[in-house]
Amino acid sequence: MTNDRSVTRRDALMLAGGAAALGALGSGVPQMAQAAAPMLGVSRPSIYRFKLGAFEVTNILDGFVQGNGPHPTFGNNQPAEVVQEYAKSQGLPPTRIENPYVNTLVNTGKELVLFDAGNGKIRMKTAGHLPDLMQTAGYKPDQVDIVVITHAHPDHMGGLIADGKPVYPNARYVICDREFDFWHKGENIPDARKPNRDLFMQQVAPLAEKFTMIKDGTDVVAGIRAQAAFGHSPGMLAFRIESEGQQLLNWADTANHYVMSIQQPDWHVSFDQDKEAAVANRRRTFDMVSADKIPVVGFHMPFPSVGWVEKTGTSYRWVPASYQFNL
Ligand SMILES: [Zn+2]
Repeated sequence: MTNDRSVTRRDALMLAGGAAALGALGSGVPQMAQAAAPMLGVSRPSIYRFKLGAFEVTNILDGFVQGNGPHPTFGNNQPAEVVQEYAKSQGLPPTRIENPYVNTLVNTGKELVLFDAGNGKIRMKTAGHLPDLMQTAGYKPDQVDIVVITHAHPDHMGGLIADGKPVYPNARYVICDREFDFWHKGENIPDARKPNRDLFMQQVAPLAEKFTMIKDGTDVVAGIRAQAAFGHSPGMLAFRIESEGQQLLNWADTANHYVMSIQQPDWHVSFDQDKEAAVANRRRTFDMVSADKIPVVGFHMPFPSVGWVEKTGTSYRWVPASYQFNL
């Protein structure tokens, strides 16, 4: 490389007088005006793919909701001040909350299995991005073979039908028989869940013939097995995903918040239909995944929504995955 005299001179000046000397050198040179970069707003990661044995697992951020909280949604059986103080002690805002919606797509090599359908575009502006982001992630909605509905709450089944057509036109569907029956019969629906029942009749009931009703222990496909997780809803299922000896639990809504539900598993959550059964499911699940060191994906865990649960005395904490799945 030929010696550039100006660089040589600049380097000599830097050595002699550092930045001040460079400033003096530059002072006689006209400067191009720099336009300020535009403010672009918050940006959230929304697609994350990792390997589990021979499977590929892709988490996709359908969206999020912001609102007042965590109390009374979390710590529903606690005084507001207790929950607010606890939020502050954990570095979280005491009176505002954001809750993500994260779908999990598993490519087994034979089938493309989508866990839950997201909110759909009509519920809120900040959610319903699943079908678009799925394409960004490299899949077309018509490639989905099976849509597993972990439970029939709006954020999990509101995106099954759009504009009168199934969003996943070639898919069959899977749900727990107890969950389907509860919403389909429509008896004993709590008042707060009546709009949920209406949405079920719009989104799930029209596809009933394509649904397979399953139970605790049913294999959806080879390597994906249902596991009862009742409480949050009458027939919510979690799913064990296993390939080449590697395991992952999709625990659906066993925990709805990575701090409030995991570190305070006994605190009631307003979304939980049977609150004590949901507490029991949390403790049973957290004990199992922490003892066996099974990684977890969860619909409301902070994106990319994969991590572990660590036992801490009588409680637990969420340990997000970093690069463990990439190696
Ligand atoms: Zn949910």
